[in-house]
This record gives sequence, structure tokens and C-alpha cells, in this order.
Amino acid sequence: MANGKIGVTSQDLFPIIKKFLYSDHDIFLREIVSNAVDASQKLKTLSSTGEFKGELGELKVSVKVDKEAKTITVSDRGIGMTEEEINKYINQIAFSGAEEFLEKYKEDANAIIGHFGLGFYSSFMISDKVEIISKSYKENSKAVRWACDGTPEYTLEEVEKDDRGTDIVMHVTEDEKDFLEESKISELLNKYCKFLPVEISFGKKKDWKDGKEVETDEDNIINDVNPAWTKKPSDLSSEDYKKFYSQLYPMTEDPLFHIHLNVDYPFNLTGILYFPKLKNNVEIQKNKIQLYCNQVFVTDSVEGIVPDFLTLLHGVIDSPDIPLNVSRSYLQSDGNVKKISNHITKKVADSLHDIFKKDRKDFEEKWNDLKVFIEYGILTNEKFADKVKNFVLLQNIDSQCFTFEEYENLISTNQTDKDGNIVALYTTDKESQYSYIQAAKDKGYDVLVMDGQLDTHFINYLEQKDSKKKYVRVDADVVDKLIVKEESKDVDMSEDKKAELSPIFTSLLQDEKVNFNVEYASLGETAMPLVITQSEFMRRMKEMSALNPGMNFYGEMPDSFNLVVNVDHKLISNIIEDKEKSLTVELQPINDKISKLNSKKEELEKNKESKKEEEVSQAEKDELANISDEISKVQTDKNNILSTYGKDNKLVGQLIDLALLSNGLLKGESLAKFIKRSVDIIK
Ligand code: ADP
Repeated sequence: MANGKIGVTSQDLFPIIKKFLYSDHDIFLREIVSNAVDASQKLKTLSSTGEFKGELGELKVSVKVDKEAKTITVSDRGIGMTEEEINKYINQIAFSGAEEFLEKYKEDANAIIGHFGLGFYSSFMISDKVEIISKSYKENSKAVRWACDGTPEYTLEEVEKDDRGTDIVMHVTEDEKDFLEESKISELLNKYCKFLPVEISFGKKKDWKDGKEVETDEDNIINDVNPAWTKKPSDLSSEDYKKFYSQLYPMTEDPLFHIHLNVDYPFNLTGILYFPKLKNNVEIQKNKIQLYCNQVFVTDSVEGIVPDFLTLLHGVIDSPDIPLNVSRSYLQSDGNVKKISNHITKKVADSLHDIFKKDRKDFEEKWNDLKVFIEYGILTNEKFADKVKNFVLLQNIDSQCFTFEEYENLISTNQTDKDGNIVALYTTDKESQYSYIQAAKDKGYDVLVMDGQLDTHFINYLEQKDSKKKYVRVDADVVDKLIVKEESKDVDMSEDKKAELSPIFTSLLQDEKVNFNVEYASLGETAMPLVITQSEFMRRMKEMSALNPGMNFYGEMPDSFNLVVNVDHKLISNIIEDKEKSLTVELQPINDKISKLNSKKEELEKNKESKKEEEVSQAEKDELANISDEISKVQTDKNNILSTYGKDNKLVGQLIDLALLSNGLLKGESLAKFIKRSVDIIK
């Protein structure tokens, strides 16, 4: 028996392992099992080159938990180690520049383990003692037992062992006894070892017998040694891809389609990416792309390796060339990683293009699910945007799909405004904007559906790319003004008359959070008497400010709507007539007074203009100010009369409510009042 000291140049390895690797104790099992797999693979290689002439037999790795002995044992039938090899690989640990490195990566267990080849020593994170019992494949080798209790001292002795290979026996510390639970080990094996290339057994397969679960004699193999991504695409059917998807994400709906990645130059990378059906946000969070290194699971946070917009995809990427053991910021600046990211972007765009070319109908059917990925990609990745721009689809209200070019051809004749802009109309809500959509369709316009999560951003993006293309929501104006084809004629109504009508119409629209601006338009006898619209600009500014906290100015402004009065409509004429009849007597003296005051004011102003500033006396200034005050007072009185008239006028109330209703703005108490009033009118 030999005693010795583990060769570390830094003071003491164990406190470091225990302290710095605290965050991620789980990985010990991955490290020990993948060492066992490596040892088995190496023997296979030696056998194929003829260096090993014996029987390979079954090369299973077994994981056993002994709750009583408080041990976890990982056994393989791989190459094993001689005493010299244990000395070389286990006792001597290259550990230069350790302190500095540890300080830098103390939060990142993966980095430390990978950097130092400390895989084996991670077993000390959960053990107070670890034994290696190993017998080399080499002829006449003697089996050895190495043991160490977490101090730099170890023992090494010859022992009896029949079979070649290695047993790693971990004596689990009291603190970590959770790892002695079968369910815990099962969970870890499932997480890290599910696709390792050598069979891993853990316990026996279970079966149901007479209503009870019983163990069979068969080993319970926890991994698939040939996962789909390691196979050739030509050997896989679409069923195989689906099956693999459900292996990765059990109980998840079938994906839309897959992309098989296979690169060997200038880096090695294989994998399968899936476009999932996104039903809700939960799935986005839950199922992520998994990153493997030679079939060993490494992580499911792939930020930096795949571009942001593709982190929404599902699937597997396996590459021995991604520097897995370094920090995220390093990863992002790594040239190889950038190449990988670009390659994946290109491959995804190409695959989408293929589907579009081969089966456009299928592509269109999937469009609604694909849209969010593609728009996200376009908004964040110029290269991707450039590659997909010819097969991005726009969908209209009748569910027809168009590429940008096709759509432009469709609408350019009928939807070009007087300044030569091509104006696309869209709806964000087919139901609540129904009457506006109908009006646009009646005019021969096409209406797009833009109700996706990213459509607001996407529309802004499209307009920035081409200033001659405009996007206008169907309720942004009355239909005649949505696409302005010629200078509009002013309605035939004096400003005074408009000023008398506006308070009547706004009398019922007193809401601090909403601003109504009355406009007069000649929309024809058959159009609605009152229409409520919201300017595209104001609405978008508010929407954008809701998304970007930096744009608070627009966010705090009240919602602003236009109330458009159709002067051609019979009911509006009726209101005007009735107003004349009912209010002329009452308003006459007020109007006389206002006009008198106005003449006086004009006179004073003229007088003032003819003088130099210093020649105007204080008395003159006061008189002018008093008159202005008086005018506004009388004006307020007048507006109050008009407003009271409006409030009491059932027809005005009914028309306003109908306009609000067709815009989805009539709610709560107002809606109840409207219903009651409607019943009263019918009675
Ligand atoms: P790494 O695997 O990164 O080289 P480890 O600390 O995990 O670092 O292992 C050190 C070395 O010990 C391995 O390279 C291998 O030569 C040897 N080794 C570890 N486990 C086994 C095993 N189960 N069978 C044979 N050799 C092993």
C-alpha cells in the first residue's frame, strides 16, 4: 500500500472545490458517468484498431445507489487504469495560475471543472470519501484501489478485481444525502445523460403485476445511445423527427417542422431545431434548446450561441467546438461562436425558403405560428431580414396570403394616395373594427390583419425601410380620408355654425381621459351620421410609449379621438334644424351681445395697432383685457346652453352612442343607458 499527496501546486484543492463549485453540485454525476463512457469508447476504438484483442463484451455503464452503505457507484468495463495511470491522471493535477482563474470564474462551476480537467474531483462536492477501483485492459494488469477522504492525502493499494474497467465509489456526505434518493439520481441521469453514446443502466426495469409495481430482471437503460441528431437526415422519416421531439419534450404538441443541422467545416456542429407551435408563454419558458457536447448535456441556456430570435425554437445543438467552459461574455466575443450563430441563422432562413418554394400552401397554413419568429428575426437581425424578405407573408381579412411584391401589385392601383404613397390598410381586431373594415371593403380597398404580438413594431420597421409605403389602421379616419387621393373640399358650413354645433355633440362626451375633437365632413347620405376615428399617428405614439417606457410624453396624454359629423346625413340636418328652432330665441340676444363686444374689441385692437407700444395707456390696455374676458364669459354661457340642449336631446345621445358602439367604446353605465334609451324609443 502506498500513501501519497495529491500533486496540486495551489494550497489545497478540496476547499476550493467545495466552496467555489457550491452552486451546481448536480454536475458530479455527469462528470463521473461521462468519464466512464469515455473509457468505454476508448476501448472500442482500441479494439477496432487491433490494439485491444480481447472480447469487448457488453460495454454498459452502471449506476448504483446503496442507501445503507451511503454510496453511489458508477462502474464501467472500459480501458481501466494502471497504478501509473492513476498517478498520472488522478494524482497529478495541472493547477497553474489557479487563484486568478478561480477568482474570475468563481460563479461558474462549468468553467472551473472544464479548465482544469477536474471532472473526477467534482465527486468530492458530495462525498467525504471517494474510491477508485480499477483494472486496466492491458494484459497482466493488476487491479488497484485508490482512496481519498477529501484531504490531499490518498492511499493506493493492490486489490482483487475480476473484470477490467473502473468502479468509482462515492461515499456521500450527510449534508448531501438527498443524492442517495433513487428519484434524485434518476432525475440527474435524465437531465445530463439521456443521450450518451454508451448504454447506462440504473436499477432494473419495473413492470406491473397484479396491480403492483415489481422489478424485472432486465436492466433499466436510461439513455438513447443513437439520438436522432447523430443520424443522417436521409435515414430519418418525419415520424422519427416527431418522435425525437417528444423524447425531448414529453407531452408537447407536435412541432411545425424541423431543421437538421450538420456542419463539419469550419467547425463541428450537429443538431435538430424545431419550430414549435406556440400556444402560450409557458411553453416558451419551459422548453428550450439544449446544448450538448458529444452527446453530454451541458446547458439549456444557449443565449449567445444562437441568435436571440431563435432561442424561441426547440431542439438540440451538439458541438465539441463551442467553448462551453467559459463565461457568457467571452462566448459572445468568440469568433467561432459568431460563425456558429451566423450559420444557424442562415440555415434557418434557407429552410424556411425551401418550404415556401416547395409547398407554399403548407407554408401559408403554418404562417400564423411562424410569424412571430420571423418578425422577431427581421426586427433584430439584419442578415436574417435580408434573407427572408421575399417570402414574408401579409395576410388579409379573407385569409389570403401575399408576399410584399404580390401585395404591392394588388393594391397599388387603388390604394395610392395623392403623394404617390402606397397605403396598406390594416385591422388589429376583426371584431371591434368590423364596421370600418366593411366601409373600406365597400370602397374596394383590401384590409390586412395585423394582430400579432410584434405587428406594431413590424409596421414601423416596414415604413422605415420604405418611406413610400404607409400602413394605416381602418379606423384611423373616415373611409374617404384613409387614403387621400385629392385635396379634400371643405364642407359648406360657416365656422360660426360649426362652433355652435360642436358643444352639442361633445356635451355627452365629457371624460378626462379621452379627448374628442369635432370635425365636419361630407360623407354622403348613406354613410353613418357620426363616426369616431383615431389618428394613426397619435394611436401609434401611444402604443409605442406603452412598449417603451422612455416615451412617457405620449403615454401620459389623454386618448384623442375625432368625432366626424357627416353633414350630408338627414339626421344631422334634423338636429341642426331642431337646434335652430329651439334655441334661436334664446341665443339671439347672446349672439347680438357677442357680436357687439367683438366689434368693440376689433376697434380697440385697431386703435392699439396704430400706436407705438409706449403710447398705449394703461386704461386702454385694461379695457381691451376686460372686453376679452367678457367675450369669453358670454361664450361660456352660450356653450352651456348648447351643451344642456345637447344633453337633453335624445337623438344626439342616440347617435353618439351608436358611434361609440361601432368603435367598441361604449361600455358600463353608458352602455346600460343606451340600451334603456333604445327600448324607450321603440316603445
Ligand atoms: P478529464 O476527463 O477532463 O480529462 P477527469 O478529472 O475527469 O478529467 O479525469 C482525468 C483522467 O482520469 C481522464 O482523462 C482519464 O484518463 C482518467 N479517468 C477518469 N475516469 C476514468 C474511468 N472511469 N476509466 C478510465 N480512466 C478514467
